[in-house]
Amino acid sequence: MKSILLNIAKEEFNNNLNKVHFVDDKYANNFLNNLDKYPHAFVLACLMDKRIKAERAWMIPYKVYKELGSFDIDYLYKKPLSRYKRLFNVGNYHIHNNEAAKYFYKAIHLIKEKYDGDASKIWKDNPSSATVVYRFLEFEGIGIKIATMAANILARQFKIPMSDYCSIDVSPDVHVRRVMKRLYNLPDNATTEQIIYKAREINPTFPGLIDYTCWKIGREICHPKKIECDKCPLSKECYYYINKK
Ligand code: SF4
Repeated sequence: MKSILLNIAKEEFNNNLNKVHFVDDKYANNFLNNLDKYPHAFVLACLMDKRIKAERAWMIPYKVYKELGSFDIDYLYKKPLSRYKRLFNVGNYHIHNNEAAKYFYKAIHLIKEKYDGDASKIWKDNPSSATVVYRFLEFEGIGIKIATMAANILARQFKIPMSDYCSIDVSPDVHVRRVMKRLYNLPDNATTEQIIYKAREINPTFPGLIDYTCWKIGREICHPKKIECDKCPLSKECYYYINKK
């Protein structure tokens, strides 16, 4: 049976490259989209994206850039950890400023020492998706959720060529969870692993492909209380809509 969800996700994947919307601030957004000049900004932003709102996390590299007046990797590399700790604490960038500053500093050192200062070497050589995820996991402070999210953004939105996509899982947040539970009649207390394996079952060659479509529908249509099934493109295959309306 053809899946409407998969069709929508594939269409989005095949669309031409658009600028990725990370943050509302257009200068910061352009900065994060500039993978040619500042590939390390993308990596550092991914690293910051935990325990705080995504918008706040993704602004951090740009704030550092504005404070220091440069985002050149050699310049960043020369700054001591104490400088980053001061920046993070004075600007209150994160809820865990000292820890986030330490991860930020260590990531700069890994990029400089392992990738000659060029973070795009993490994804440049047509690697397998497992290699990309693994390379992100080598950064202190990055777990599997962020590593797969980073690989997914690179593949799906920046259209970075990879030899396969099978190791890119969904990174289930509240929206993805809610939509997948209703769509596939998963239990209310479905674990992260259940969500991930359901996505693998649906599209084993690229499980994370459906992540963005589910997230968007969850954010815009499939709300916790106000469930606007009449507007939803997935209604014809949605368990909740078919059985509980
Ligand atoms: S049909 Fe309704 S319940 Fe199903 S995903 Fe769409 S909005 Fe959610």
